[in-house]
Amino acid sequence: LKNSFKFSLIYTLVLILQTRSISLASLPQDLFHLKIASKIHTDEQFLLSVSTDYGNLTTSIPDAVLYPSSPQDISSLIRFSYNSSNPFPIAPRGNGHSINGQASAPDGVVINMKSLGYGHNNGINVSIVNRYVDVGGEQLWIDLLHETLKYGLTPRSWTDYLHLTVGGTLSVGGISGQTSRYGPQISNVIELDVITGKGEMITCSKDQNSDLFLAVLGGMGQFGIITRARIILSPAPQKVHWIRLVYTDVVTFTRDQERLISTENSEGSPLRLFNYVEGSFLVDRRLLGSWRSPQFFTDSDYDRMSQLVTEDGLGGVYYIEGAVYYTDEITVQVNQELELLLGELSYVPDYAFIRNVSYVEFLDRVHDGELKLRELGEWEVPHPWLNLFVPKSRILDFDAGVIKGILSNRSAAGIILMYPMNRNKWDDRMSTMIPDEEIFYTFGLLRSASRENLQVMIDENDKILQFCNLAGIKYKQYLPHYATTKGWMKHFGTKWNNFLALKAKYDPELILSPGSTILSSYI
Ligand code: FAD
Repeated sequence: LKNSFKFSLIYTLVLILQTRSISLASLPQDLFHLKIASKIHTDEQFLLSVSTDYGNLTTSIPDAVLYPSSPQDISSLIRFSYNSSNPFPIAPRGNGHSINGQASAPDGVVINMKSLGYGHNNGINVSIVNRYVDVGGEQLWIDLLHETLKYGLTPRSWTDYLHLTVGGTLSVGGISGQTSRYGPQISNVIELDVITGKGEMITCSKDQNSDLFLAVLGGMGQFGIITRARIILSPAPQKVHWIRLVYTDVVTFTRDQERLISTENSEGSPLRLFNYVEGSFLVDRRLLGSWRSPQFFTDSDYDRMSQLVTEDGLGGVYYIEGAVYYTDEITVQVNQELELLLGELSYVPDYAFIRNVSYVEFLDRVHDGELKLRELGEWEVPHPWLNLFVPKSRILDFDAGVIKGILSNRSAAGIILMYPMNRNKWDDRMSTMIPDEEIFYTFGLLRSASRENLQVMIDENDKILQFCNLAGIKYKQYLPHYATTKGWMKHFGTKWNNFLALKAKYDPELILSPGSTILSSYI
């Protein structure tokens, strides 16, 4: 019964897509008689402004761009498409920081979400009493940070880079060094306002329309457009000890990382001190001052680190990146605890680097690198990024085969992130797929390409996936991208049928976010 349900659902979706591909030459003219017509732009300059993304790997030109002033405008557009005899695709575009054209709508309409915030400043409302914030899906995390800090409060879970929209990161998961302790951003949401693929405006939470709530979080824009999110807040720290601890072998590096994120660390143990735990493999000394945090190492640290990088047999070192939050009142106590903590870890002696920075400076650390790269004209280059979640049981095999194997070719170096997370901080019912082990690592290969080495990087990414498949490493892609249905089915695993059923319920005409190509690969 299950199989026949699955195949009839797939068959219906295929039929819809086949009809769509023939009929979507241009938008229905009636669209331009709606009340929202003056907000729909078809001039080349508008179309080109949304035709590519941070990845710079794809180009996809829509037929129009909607600049909404309210969620109702978005609902009108979707309703029109849904009720039309030839429904056309619609994609919300946050800040366009996807890699593979996920926010594109070929032959359809891209919604410039940020336009919801233009001209008025009421997209962020803090409730001090309830310790949450209601924020528009179009808002940037950096603006949310500044606004909540006015009340001495802050969200707990972040991405490394804050110039992304709330709707954009909640559609993928939202991870950083805080995830091990506070869960990903999607675990920190209490309620959402969502506009579905039928144009309905629905409020949802774990208690109300919960299937939509869970589907939309990490749902790659497939089930609805987030126009408001209610996010948990905590008291904000003022300052941060920003720490890097250097390791020359992967076993000690991962063991210390796992000790730091262990949920078994008892209250009062110094191992509980870190509010943020990440880690990197530094493959090449030129990356010491990389765009992710060019401000961290001083010139003298740089020299010392350089020696270690080149002296190591494999030409690279690992470092744990940690952060300890504090306020003025508890500085002395935190400093004592930090000393105890460092005594428990096995980094290379004398290779602990500590910076004292403000909370905002720490959270917004990647922005400095962005400004520098923009100045050099190196921000808008191709970015063939690869992000994987790797089960802890295979992280050493992964390290040997990928970091010390495939990536030992230095001609295509880049930032390599590697840090563990606790599965129990995630809600497996949400759409972001995670490995089936209590601890898993995020591996981020964040490379900027030139015309000469782009193909080398793309080939290496493929080799990494092939290696994992052959070695039986049960990874999940984060920010997933697959060219085939088989790839997507494997990605969703046992949740595939549920994905199809929810798609049929909330976006039956397959209008929303076609750029993810989850269903278009059927045709
Ligand atoms: P877009 O790229 O515009 O859209 C992304 C997807 O979400 C599309 O499918 C789009 O249709 C959909 N979407 C957009 N808005 C909405 C909405 N309101 N409702 C429903 N769907 C919507 N990710 C991390 O987790 N951690 C990191 O540390 C991190 N660092 C990054 C650093 C850089 C420099 C870059 C470029 C990306 C980084 N990312 C990170 C990835 C980033 O979180 C995702 O690519 C995110 O989706 C981008 O947000 P955006 O606002 O640019 O969304």
